[in-house]
Amino acid sequence: MQTEILIIGAGLAGAYAAEKLGLAGRSVLIVEAKDHVGGRGYTRGFGNQAPMLEFGGSWITPWHPRMQDACRRHGVDLVPTVPVADRRWHDGAMLRSDGPVGRADRADYDRVIAAIVADAKRLKEGHDCDSSGAPLLAIALDEYMARHRSNRATDAQVMAWWTISGSGDPATVSAGEFLASCGYIDGTPEGMMQALTHTLSPGVSILVERMISASGAKLQLGFPVAKVEELADSVRVTARDGRSLEARGAIFALPFNVLRDIDFGGTISPQQQSAAHRGHDGRAVKLWLRLKGPRTGYLATGGLESLQWLFVPYQAEGGAVLAVGFGLDDGRWHPDRRSDVAAAVERLAPGAELVGWDWHDWCADPCARGTWLSAPARGADLTPQTWGLTGRLAFASSDIAPEAAGWFEGAMSSAEAAAAAMAEIL
Ligand SMILES: Cc1cc2nc3c(=O)[nH]c(=O)nc-3n(C[C@H](O)[C@H](O)[C@H](O)COP(=O)(O)OP(=O)(O)OC[C@H]3O[C@@H](n4cnc5c(N)ncnc54)[C@H](O)[C@@H]3O)c2cc1C
Repeated sequence: MQTEILIIGAGLAGAYAAEKLGLAGRSVLIVEAKDHVGGRGYTRGFGNQAPMLEFGGSWITPWHPRMQDACRRHGVDLVPTVPVADRRWHDGAMLRSDGPVGRADRADYDRVIAAIVADAKRLKEGHDCDSSGAPLLAIALDEYMARHRSNRATDAQVMAWWTISGSGDPATVSAGEFLASCGYIDGTPEGMMQALTHTLSPGVSILVERMISASGAKLQLGFPVAKVEELADSVRVTARDGRSLEARGAIFALPFNVLRDIDFGGTISPQQQSAAHRGHDGRAVKLWLRLKGPRTGYLATGGLESLQWLFVPYQAEGGAVLAVGFGLDDGRWHPDRRSDVAAAVERLAPGAELVGWDWHDWCADPCARGTWLSAPARGADLTPQTWGLTGRLAFASSDIAPEAAGWFEGAMSSAEAAAAAMAEIL
């Protein structure tokens, strides 16, 4: 049978769309720019040796049923997250173990967190303003924090959690991103730790490989799509080296931030063109660090620079541990510079020996151009309505998902919608 549907991108969205279409008896070809599948789900060895770690996304929550089902179907285990055993707070000046901030700052912290809890609750209930009518979505996180007149110690805690919840520039990203992640549990930023309940073993990349192989779809690696054309009754995609493929419909299962690099000609609307040009603001840095000193279960947050969140989930060989750290790619530090990484470790885990570290630069990666979804407060249209079926093209990505946007689960919810949309064409 000739290929009926092309799927461009072999991340979770592409793999799940292939599974859905395979079940419906469709013939599918997946094309992928890289030499491996998984996309922003990226399982590989530390320094390309054991142990295998997640360099892209890693956690799922109890509210991610599609991911849980996929793991069950494909023999991937869900491993509970190691509980926090030792909690430290950096208030911007020093590391503390006596609470989120020193005693003197406690009142400020409690006041701001109470306001955040109330706003997160209102957002979850469907309001886009706080109780005084001030916006919660169409406002940047910096402006939102300024509204609370929070002090430096409180900011250090809020921003630390921001590096693993929203991850973009607080000057442009919507406060709603932060409040939505606070809303997962009890409205506090820290509640997020309880939401990140499981990781996958042997890993997200392996799950994607198994999904693709079970779908019956063909897979072509090393095919970076650069151009799209709609013909009378088909769609043609052309790779950077000029090779082209045709099918009756195509699902673009790509990171939102790479759409701007593809020549869609007149196949997408001016509104879609302009949203793709703006992109989203997700610019997190995730590092794996081999350390000597801290124990498993150690969590330190805060500091307002470079790494602002550090957690030790695993024991490693030779008395070392493996820690995961998050920060923002804000141009003020570089994770390739030993001095920057060592300073961050000294701040969040004083006395720890930095044995080595490893990371993947998602912002520089031309197949990602950013990390996970961080919606700007103004000027970018990432709604599933705007990215619905467009001629013979459908769009799927965690970045424009109808549910759980930004998560693995979102990639799957968007794939479900895109696969259903293909039925209209076929
Ligand atoms: C550091 C980091 C941490 C994260 N943490 C979590 C977490 O803990 N939990 C969670 O649920 N989510 C997390 N996420 C988000 C999660 O990884 C993504 O939401 C999800 O993997 C996106 O899936 P996708 O299929 O939509 O896109 P992707 O996985 O990005 O897949 C898109 C595919 O398209 C390919 N591609 C790109 N350009 C082209 C082209 N021109 N032609 C052909 N192919 C192309 C890419 O190589 C890629 O394989 C994290 C992400 C990152 C980066």
